[in-house]
Amino acid sequence: MRIGIIGTGVAGSLLAEALLDAPGIAVTAYERVAAGDQAEAGTGLNVGPNALKALRLHMPARHAALRAASLPWRRWFVDLTDGTRLLDLDLLDLAEEPGLRIRWSELYRLLRAPVAGCTRNGHALDALEEDAAGRLVPVFRTADGLVRDGGFDLLVGADGRYSRLRALTCGEPEGTLLGVGIWRLLVTEASDCPYDDYGQWFHGNARLLSFRVPGNAVYIAGTFPLEGGGQIPAETRTEAAQRALFTPKDSPPCPAVAWMLDKVAAHLADIHWARSATAPLQRHDPSGRALFLGDAAQAMVPTLGQGATQAVECGVLAAQVLRRGGSVAEIAALRDPRVRFVRDFSLEASDTLAPGVDVVEGTRAKASPDFLAKLRRTYTEVA
Ligand SMILES: Cc1cc2nc3c(=O)[nH]c(=O)nc-3n(C[C@H](O)[C@H](O)[C@H](O)COP(=O)(O)OP(=O)(O)OC[C@H]3O[C@@H](n4cnc5c(N)ncnc54)[C@H](O)[C@@H]3O)c2cc1C
Repeated sequence: MRIGIIGTGVAGSLLAEALLDAPGIAVTAYERVAAGDQAEAGTGLNVGPNALKALRLHMPARHAALRAASLPWRRWFVDLTDGTRLLDLDLLDLAEEPGLRIRWSELYRLLRAPVAGCTRNGHALDALEEDAAGRLVPVFRTADGLVRDGGFDLLVGADGRYSRLRALTCGEPEGTLLGVGIWRLLVTEASDCPYDDYGQWFHGNARLLSFRVPGNAVYIAGTFPLEGGGQIPAETRTEAAQRALFTPKDSPPCPAVAWMLDKVAAHLADIHWARSATAPLQRHDPSGRALFLGDAAQAMVPTLGQGATQAVECGVLAAQVLRRGGSVAEIAALRDPRVRFVRDFSLEASDTLAPGVDVVEGTRAKASPDFLAKLRRTYTEVA
């Protein structure tokens, strides 16, 4: 069986690695960026305990490599920006092992290295054709012009949120904007950072989220309501607007928030701005010749850190099904109910970002038995 994988991000790299020695399967991966180019990688990220469980069970060498290059994600605390504590969870009360905190460039480097031999870099999927046997033939844009390769019994779209393979086989998905703006920053000189593990700080429905990652760096993300779900206005992208968003009304910000706001002021030009959005889940095309994994299939809201986490589950678990000769329908049956549960729960956990929702009440509800049971399911129910 000839399998082509489009994109060697999180899901694509793991799938390719797990299929490399599979009897009867020949795998080729295509990646639009050049070999060793991690420039498109973002900032830092936290990967949930459930991704680590999937790797521990099915790809122990990759589990060990990621653990060695990361810090454990063990805690989730939520404060108001004046320092009032609302929630403090120990992930080990809910999971079998900690999650991890890592620089994104390091994650990509570690996942791409084992599949370098089967990856064609500088290949961006552009179009699709069919051979005489009805197999898909991908057409790539390269530095030397358009290149055809194939045909493939199965093409896997692991090409992220704006998947070209999904658009070509199923049409552009209709995204839903969540009315929330988001920015991200990686601070690389952070010896004086006054916190370590994963925290969130709220002022009204605006939220800072931050944690240390290896290499004396700190990842910071800011989230704020966007009126009418429109574009992020230029006046919001200023130091004064960001200070106003997160500074308490009647007291100075706590030391952690004061530190973050100073870093925002110093690095305003490096900040990446975006709008939070979801898209309908789609696992494969109607013919079953194209399978979608990770963000290509399921765009996640960021609140529970399940985007890359679910992409890990996708890559690892789809490989198990394909190795035993299973079909795309079996992968859908395994993944879709799980992804729906995690996606709905991530949306539910994002309630305090919506204008008008009481942050104190909404956050304290996250210590309820019902919420904690769902978090435990998220962190442990891995096939
Ligand atoms: C700034 C930021 C911070 C985030 N933080 C977190 C976090 O803390 N925790 C978490 O779990 N998730 C986080 N996410 C989400 C997470 O990064 C994604 O969910 C995850 O990367 C999805 O993995 P993937 O394998 O589906 O796609 P990606 O990792 O996006 O990989 C897609 C790959 O496909 C390649 N590609 C794209 N188009 C083509 C094409 N036409 N041809 C060939 N190759 C192509 C790309 O170059 C890339 O290598 C964050 C996202 C962003 C943007």
